[in-house]
Amino acid sequence: MSKEKYVIIGGVAGGATTAARIRRMNEEVEVILFEKGDYISYANCGLPYYIGDVIEDRNKLFVQTPESFGLRFNIDVRVRSEVVSIDREKKVVLVRTSDGKEYSENYDKLLLSPGAFPVRPPFPGINNDGIFTLRNVNDTDAIKNYMNTHQVKRAVVVGAGFIGLEMAENLQHAGAKVSVVEMLNQVMPPIDYSMASLVHQHLQDKGVNLYLEHAVSAFTKKGNSIEVVFKNGKCILADIVILSIGVRPETALAKKAGLTIGEAGGILVNDYLQTSDENIYAVGDAIEFRHPVTGKSWLNYLAGPANRQGRICADNMVLGNKVKYEGAIGTAIAKVFDMTVASTGLAAKQLKKNNIPYISSVTHSGSHAGYYPDSLQLSIKITFSPEDGKLFGAQVLGYNGVDKRIDQIALIIKQKGTIYDLIEIEHAYAPPYSSAKDPVAIAGYVADNILSKRVNIITWREMQQVNDGIILDVRTPVEFSLGAIPGAINMPIDGIRNHLDELPKDKNIYIYCAVGLRGYLAARVLMQNGFDKVFNLSGGYKLYRSATTPVVLDEKDMNACSLGLTNDDGNKQPIVETIKIDACGLQCPGPIMKLKKSIEDVNVGDRLEIIATDPGFKRDSQAWCNMTGHKMVSQSVDSGKYISVIEKVEKKKVTPSFSESPVECGGKGKTFILFSDDLDKALATFVLVNGAVSTGEKVSIFFTFWGLNAIKKTHKPKVQKDIFGKMFSMMLPSDTMALKLSKMYMMGIGSKMMRFIMKKKGIDSLESLRQQALDSGVEFIACQMSMDVMGVKAEELLDEVTIGGVATYMERADKSNVNLFI
Ligand code: FAD
Repeated sequence: MSKEKYVIIGGVAGGATTAARIRRMNEEVEVILFEKGDYISYANCGLPYYIGDVIEDRNKLFVQTPESFGLRFNIDVRVRSEVVSIDREKKVVLVRTSDGKEYSENYDKLLLSPGAFPVRPPFPGINNDGIFTLRNVNDTDAIKNYMNTHQVKRAVVVGAGFIGLEMAENLQHAGAKVSVVEMLNQVMPPIDYSMASLVHQHLQDKGVNLYLEHAVSAFTKKGNSIEVVFKNGKCILADIVILSIGVRPETALAKKAGLTIGEAGGILVNDYLQTSDENIYAVGDAIEFRHPVTGKSWLNYLAGPANRQGRICADNMVLGNKVKYEGAIGTAIAKVFDMTVASTGLAAKQLKKNNIPYISSVTHSGSHAGYYPDSLQLSIKITFSPEDGKLFGAQVLGYNGVDKRIDQIALIIKQKGTIYDLIEIEHAYAPPYSSAKDPVAIAGYVADNILSKRVNIITWREMQQVNDGIILDVRTPVEFSLGAIPGAINMPIDGIRNHLDELPKDKNIYIYCAVGLRGYLAARVLMQNGFDKVFNLSGGYKLYRSATTPVVLDEKDMNACSLGLTNDDGNKQPIVETIKIDACGLQCPGPIMKLKKSIEDVNVGDRLEIIATDPGFKRDSQAWCNMTGHKMVSQSVDSGKYISVIEKVEKKKVTPSFSESPVECGGKGKTFILFSDDLDKALATFVLVNGAVSTGEKVSIFFTFWGLNAIKKTHKPKVQKDIFGKMFSMMLPSDTMALKLSKMYMMGIGSKMMRFIMKKKGIDSLESLRQQALDSGVEFIACQMSMDVMGVKAEELLDEVTIGGVATYMERADKSNVNLFI
């Protein structure tokens, strides 16, 4: 009796996996694998990295050779052999070899895993030299060879999907200046626009020219270069072009054989991955299958599902239909320079398209404990059902730990779980890896708060449309002054309880902070005080700013091209010595304070390179330059570190040039009166003062009554006091270490806790902020009258303090345009 015969078409992800599993299931059957290319079982996902020289050894791309695979699995591997037709009646395939010979091979069971082919639209000039698509090793060799034999200084990637962006990174790694052209208004189509905007920012920070909403219409050869012509008539020049505008399922053979093609355009299979012919199975990029969330048939071009389908399919082919395929939700991940971008399930835009009601929520958390080095922000957007919290999808962006978070969420979605399951995950935690509250758990907590109506949220899109009520920015004044939502009022979270009577209860109040946490806290304060029209901005100002900041087009390159010129050397900078300043780990306004201090110590014309991990630093440092007149030379980001190079410019009167901030900055001084000795109020004062002085303005603080306790020496000399002076000394805090919180006193535990948390989060202590203010030239004036009343002697106060009266204060206040009483 002849052996049962299995024929496999396609020798890479799905095909090779199925063949190997068939053999593992049955040693007796005959397996023949046809592959039209030269290679089988290679790492197509690794091809971009070989082009970029990240993978240097070409041999590493090959998991198996035809010989080693054939030997190990006892499989008859036939490369350079294309199956050109299938006779289903006779159960025979017609094979054409690369030298043109044809022959037939019969089968008992047939597997199709022909993959997908890259789209190559019939643009004029598309067949010019130097224009490539990337699917297999031969394409890779052709690209590599071209790059080795031509001067590739400018590369254009057309299409900003996952593979397009991987290519962008790798072409830059190989030394080219890269432009990415995309017809849509965003990169990475599976993710939502707001999340993609964070990627736009990163790509631009990395020096990639981003041409969004630009459709290519033609290619023209210009000497050794290629003109990439846009539909709007403009063009850019390239030395190489990679087309990455999508793939289509390879269905020609299946169609010719009369197999059913589904509505999405892929080979239709049943739950057992069997086509409309019971003897023919199909897997991989060529098939379409039900999406587990929408229930609709869709195409999913990913290696993981192709491999899993191969295993299931082999079992069904060998054992009879036993194992059902559950479908894929499109879990994908890509490295985009320093960033990792991942998505799973359905994004908001897909839910909208499918008319599925949803809520989306964005959270930003540290990838691991903030006090452990290199904790960088990780952004998570989840979509879920407003009815029962069923999870629909997630997008995760960040620098570390994106992969494990997306995998956890994908598992929950596949198991039809809810946002409550995000909270219940038992995360492994140690400071280098996570926080006791993992970012995934935080995404769950926030969603829980939304569903249980403990907070109402507003999206960045809705916030743009707001034309009623008030917009409340609960960040610090320093953050506010560096950029805010137009029309917003600044009311820092820590003082909000003292201003409740200034807020209207009958109007909508739209709250926001940097990332959403302080906004939530403020919303809770208001809601518990009778305000019921309160909304917190999901994803905070970070997301809003990124989503509303337009991508800057490199018009310079476009003009140069239309004149037929190149601008290879146009950007050369004179070489200047640059002083490096490390502000990593400091939170706003720490890095700005450090910048302010450092610039004072250098000469006009010198440059500072400040490195910070605070994601707001890029924007803040630009705003600071706008305010102070110093020159921003360059900004970049490297592995989550924000680097600004700033040149010191001769001091001049500067008019602020940024439009977002409603804070007045007319070049006058700022005066503060510190009346309180509450620890939190003293802290807020010094934060404000340091922010104010960083803009180069003259700042004075007038310490009166209890405020004097904020400027007492720790080690005081012995002084003579009357009975009342002695009583005051006994009853009042002896120095700042004894100051108490205005709320949460808890027998002194509150203050200790506050100091502990500040230390943990890398925020400067009160004493350090006070010293920074003194070092920055802030004038400390102690109120003579208060000192007399309370028996405080000048010797008990810090040496830098001057003693003054109301006249001194009035004189300073007269020269100021901001005067705050705390
Ligand atoms: P393929 O692996 O493409 O194999 C199909 C094979 O069939 C081809 O070798 C083809 O030559 C052969 N063939 C076709 N027709 C015939 C015929 N008639 N006769 C004989 N042979 C035939 N996925 C991820 O999940 N993560 C990634 O990071 C990732 N990166 C990628 C990077 C690149 C550059 C590319 C091209 C793809 C990437 N993918 C990635 C997608 C992933 O490679 C595919 O989803 C997966 O390979 C699909 O497997 P398949 O078996 O369906 O098709």
